Order: sequence, then C-alpha cells, then structure tokens
Amino acid sequence: MTETRAVQFDAPGGPEVLKMITVPLGDPGPGQVRVRHHACGLNYIDIYQRSGVYPMPLPQVLGMEGAGVIEAVGEGVTHLAVGDRVAYASAPPGAYCEARVMSAAQVCRLPESIDFRTGAAMMLQGLTVQYLFERTVPLKAGDTVLFHAAAGGVGLIACQWARAKGIRLIGTAGTDEKCALAKAHGASEVINYEREDFVARVRDLTDGRGVDVVMDSIGAATFEPSLNSLRPLGMMISFGNASGKVPPFDLGILGAKGSLQLTRPTLFTHIADHATCQAMAAELFAMVESGKVSITIGGEYALADVARAHRDMEARATTGSLVLIP
Ligand code: NDP
Repeated sequence: MTETRAVQFDAPGGPEVLKMITVPLGDPGPGQVRVRHHACGLNYIDIYQRSGVYPMPLPQVLGMEGAGVIEAVGEGVTHLAVGDRVAYASAPPGAYCEARVMSAAQVCRLPESIDFRTGAAMMLQGLTVQYLFERTVPLKAGDTVLFHAAAGGVGLIACQWARAKGIRLIGTAGTDEKCALAKAHGASEVINYEREDFVARVRDLTDGRGVDVVMDSIGAATFEPSLNSLRPLGMMISFGNASGKVPPFDLGILGAKGSLQLTRPTLFTHIADHATCQAMAAELFAMVESGKVSITIGGEYALADVARAHRDMEARATTGSLVLIP
C-alpha cells in the first residue's frame, strides 16, 4: 500500500476549509482502475460542494475530473490497460489528488493528439456541452440559443460547439473583455449583462420573437429574465446556480409566459451508462481533434494552491477552463 496527497475538507465553508492531506492508495477492485494524474480539472460544481450548496458526505476529497495514466486495472475492466493515457469526468468526487482508485466506467482513453492538461480541462465541461446541445433538446442549424457565462469553461466550449453546428449563440458575460473572448470563440452576438438589460437586447436581436432555448447556469439572478427571453414554447435549460439556487416558484408562470418548457439536467445522469459516456466522449474528442473546438486553459494552479483557484473562480476572475497540477 502506497500513499497519495489529496485535497480534503471536513466541513462546508470558504476556500480555507481545503486541506492537503496524505491518504492510503490501494489496488483497484473489480470494475476499478488506479489512475496516476498528470492534471486535474477545476469546475464550478467543486465550489457548490465545498460551500455546502450541494451537501456532501464528510470528510470529502473534492474534484470530478482528471487526466493521466492507468497504473493498475481491476478484474472485469476490458476497455483499459496499464499504461493507457486516459481522461474522465465522474462522480463521486475524489480527483484533487496525485493518484486514485476509481470506477473504470467513465474513464476514457485519451487520443494521442490531446495532451493531459487539455484532457483534464475538457472532460466535464465538454461532455456538458455535448449533452446540452445534442441530448437535451433537438437543436438544428439556424436555431437561436441564449447562453449565460459564455466566457467561462463551459461557455467557451459552447460558443465553439454552436458555431460548428450552425447554431446562433447569443452569449452573455460580466465584462466587455469576457464578451470579446466569447465572440472570438464563436458567439454570434454578446451582451454584457452587468451593464445591459439582456432581455431587451435579446428581443431586439430576435425581432421581438425571443430565443428558442436558454442555457442558464447562473440560477437565482437570471432565472426570471431568462424565461422572459424565450419565444412561446421555448425551452429553458437551467443547469447551474453560480449566483444561488433558483427559489421555488409557481409552475403556472411557465403557462403564462407562453407554454414554456423547463428542464434541470445534470451531466452525471447522462454519463451514468458506460457505453453512453464513451460515445459522448468520442464525439467530444472528434470535435477537439478536428479543430472545431479548442480548449482554452485560462488558469493553471499547483494542487497545493487549490484555495487560490477557488477564490479566483468565485470572484468571477477566470475565463475558460482551469487545471490543477499535482
Ligand atoms: P465558469 O468558468 O463558467 O465560472 C462561472 C461563471 O459564472 C463566472 O465566471 C461568471 O461569469 C458567472 N457568474 C455569474 N454570476 C456569478 C456569481 N454570482 N458568482 C460566481 N460566478 C458568477 O464555470 P464552469 O464552466 O465550471 O461552469 C459553468 C456553470 O455550469 C456553473 O454554474 C456550473 O455549475 C454549471 N455546470 C452544470 C453542469 C450540469 O450538468 N448541470 C455541468 C457543468 C457545469 P461572468 O462574470 O461572465 O458572469
């Protein structure tokens, strides 16, 4: 039995609750692999888990994404072998570490052309974009999507995915610099929602009609204006709560605003099935290898410096995807 360094927290709170610890590292059991990380991904969900917005069993090692090399393979695992380069997004958490034993089901072989940092940066956010655009609502070229936080990790991938599919993506972001970044990544139009009323701007941009779909990860602060940006029968995809959870509301609002549809999906339902997860990853890898989507790493932090990474994310000071280097 060897050991690994990992980042754990014992009680919900601010970034200061994150502590570097040393934990035993065993051999994989049936259906498991041991992965030696070259890079780990940082995601906004890590903040919900650390702060208690998503309650977790404690103590808890955070992190839902990583890339590295397979060191050992448990009984019954047939799609991976020792020495394979891999990347994954998966629940439960445990990725903020040098190496871990984990279920093999969501671990995917990483194409040679994709480096480990990119692999760690792209899996959770890229698979999210895949399910938002390909598995949640039938979207076709010419459709219009309003996408909030378009310069973030999920956002910059979404801008490029939409461009590749001929979808008109209207992106919002909190500064003019972020708006410019989203535009450079493929957003058709951008709105600085700190300065401008995005509902009025969306109505202007769509000749009064409203958008077909809103993809809203901001939650409380944007929920109602997002509904007000939709066309009749449009679809609201509420997939995050960076500004706080959407408070309970009267379902009748959906009828009154034009028979709107509403869904609240999570990536982990979509990737729960092994074959589905591997197929989604194959499509994501193809998008990256073709150059249609390039992964923008907006920040790189040492594992021991993870609290600073969390502070930067919460302060809205980051763009693109972030990685931790163990
Ligand atoms: P981002 O890099 O997009 O960071 C979050 C961004 O949200 C910020 O940069 C900021 O951009 C914006 N934001 C708006 N209001 C606030 C606020 N009050 N506090 C903090 N940030 C705010 O993160 P990710 O790419 O990791 O994730 C994007 C969102 O998607 C998150 O909400 C995440 O939880 C969600 N998500 C959901 C998944 C699912 O399956 N349901 C899967 C993956 C991600 P700006 O300054 O431009 O407003």
